[in-house]
Amino acid sequence: MKLFACQSCNQVLFFENTACERCGHTLGYLPAENDLSALEQVAGEDGTWRPLSTAATAPSYRFCANAAQNACNWLVPAGGDAYCLACQLNRTIPDLSEDRHLDQWRKLETAKHRLVYTLMRLNLPIATRQEDPEGGLAFDFLGDPPDGGKVLTGHQDGLITIALREADDAQREAMRVEMGEQYRTLLGHFRHEVGHYYWNVLVRDGGHLDGFRALFGDERADYQAALQHHYQVGAPPNWQDNFVSDYATAHPWEDFAETWAHYLHIVSTLETARAYGLSVDIHVSDDPAMQTEVAFNPYAPGGFEPIAQAWLPLTYAINSLNRSMGQIDFYPFVLAPPALEKLAYVHNLIHGTLPA
Ligand SMILES: [Zn+2]
Ligand SMILES: [Zn+2]
Ligand SMILES: [Zn+2]
Repeated sequence: MKLFACQSCNQVLFFENTACERCGHTLGYLPAENDLSALEQVAGEDGTWRPLSTAATAPSYRFCANAAQNACNWLVPAGGDAYCLACQLNRTIPDLSEDRHLDQWRKLETAKHRLVYTLMRLNLPIATRQEDPEGGLAFDFLGDPPDGGKVLTGHQDGLITIALREADDAQREAMRVEMGEQYRTLLGHFRHEVGHYYWNVLVRDGGHLDGFRALFGDERADYQAALQHHYQVGAPPNWQDNFVSDYATAHPWEDFAETWAHYLHIVSTLETARAYGLSVDIHVSDDPAMQTEVAFNPYAPGGFEPIAQAWLPLTYAINSLNRSMGQIDFYPFVLAPPALEKLAYVHNLIHGTLPA
C-alpha cells in the first residue's frame, strides 16, 4: 500500500483516512488516479466535491453510496455511478438492522477495498456481474442463518461468499487454532478466494491449463473427495518442501489459490516497505541473502527474482520485530524452491509473461 500526503497541509495520510488530522479537510480516494485527495465542497451542490489532487481527471466527485455507512471512502465522478468499483462488486451485504453487523461489515469492506486496490495496481481484469452475469466477480457477505446452519466461505463461478463471523476477531482466532493454521485474516480470505476467480479467468480461459497442471497437478482430481481427505488425514508431513501452506496440499485449485494469496500478500507488503523507504542490512553477517533495499515497484512487469530477493530478508526482519513485541510471526511461512517457482508462475501469469 502506498502512503499519501494531504494536498492542503502535507500531513502523511493512510488509505482508509476520511479526514486530515492536521487541517481537517475531508478526504476521499480517487481509484482510477490512485490518490487520496483533500476535498473542498462545491458551493451550492450538496454532496459534490472538488479534489485538491492534481491527479483528478473529473472536475467534481461524489462519495460512493456506501460512504453513508462509513463503509467506503472512494470517490466517483459526479453524475456517474452511485457505487465505486469496489462496492459495485457487492451482491449481498449483511442485514444492517442488527447492530453488530454494521461493525462486521465495515471490517469486511476495509479488507475488500485493500484487495481491489491491489487488483487495480496489478492491472488485473475485473468484470462485474452486470458485465458478465455467468462468471463476473461478486461478493456475498452472509451471516449464519437462525436455524443453526453455518455459512461457508468460498468461491463459485466468480461469486465469493465470505462468512460474516470471520469479521469477529474471537471467532476467527478460534477457527485459526482449531484448524491448526498459522495465519487467518479477513484480507487473507479475500486474497485466497479471488485466486479461484482468477484461475478461471487467467488459467482456464487464458489457455494455460497444461503449464498449470505441470506445476500444480491435475485439477480434474475429485475436488470434494480431496477436501474430505485433507480434513480427515491432514497434509503430508513434508508439505513445507513443496507448498506455501498446509491447506495448499488439499487440491491443485487450493494450491493455486494459496499461492495467489501469498503473491498478493508479498507485492502489497513490498509496496508498503517501499513507501517507507525500508532497507535491511544486518550487522552480524555479510550474507547478501539477508540484505535488501525495497526501492522498486513490485507491481511493475519484469522478473520475479527481485521480489523474492527482497521478500525473504524483509520477513526475517519483521518476524524478529514481532517476536520482540511478543507477537506471533508476521509471515509464519517458509518458501522452499518449489513454492517460489509457483509464485513465479503466478507473477508471470499476472503480467502475461508465461510461455504460451
Ligand atoms: Zn491536511
Ligand atoms: Zn465504495
Ligand atoms: Zn479455496
